[in-house]
Amino acid sequence: MAFELPDLSYAYDALEPNIDARTMEIHHSKHHNGYTTNLNNAITDTPHASQTIEEILKGLDLNNKALRNNGGGFYNHRLFWAIMSPDGGGTPSGDLASAINNTFGSFDDFKNEFAKASATQFGSGWAWLCVQSDGSLKICATANQDNPLMPGIGCGGIPILGIDVWEHAYYLNYQNRRPDYIQAFFNVINWDKVSELYKKGV
Ligand code: MN
Repeated sequence: MAFELPDLSYAYDALEPNIDARTMEIHHSKHHNGYTTNLNNAITDTPHASQTIEEILKGLDLNNKALRNNGGGFYNHRLFWAIMSPDGGGTPSGDLASAINNTFGSFDDFKNEFAKASATQFGSGWAWLCVQSDGSLKICATANQDNPLMPGIGCGGIPILGIDVWEHAYYLNYQNRRPDYIQAFFNVINWDKVSELYKKGV
């Protein structure tokens, strides 16, 4: 079954001024749409056609560049849209807040480490917060459209939060000021969704 570009649950301009409408529209309707089309082309008439995206990524042959780039691109952006909201920002609560405090010391320590991983990823890529099988959390960054579900990539575990640091994610509004974009991203994080993913992943 072919993968479909997911709709956003908010309008393209809903995340302004943190992420501008034009960037959101191009990012979703062009970039993510392209990854989705190319993923479908890469799995047509292969055994991957009957797999979920998670199964495809976990069993990925890293030498299969079309599947690596476009399967990763499809999954990463689907997660990215879901963990942002116009009602986002603030701090998490409940079990996720406890896990963040236990792993990083405090929310501010987590925020600093996540921002650093995002800012220091050289070139295109993503930074992630992942839940491990013992419930602990890890931060890592990956290049291009790789992600932690792929074998031997990043910090392992299940990604519950990710920030796209490709220039296409911020350049129209922030130009080379990636750190400003990263700080603005914290204003739109949908912690309810991240908490839900944490509970599922533990
Ligand atoms: Mn992107």
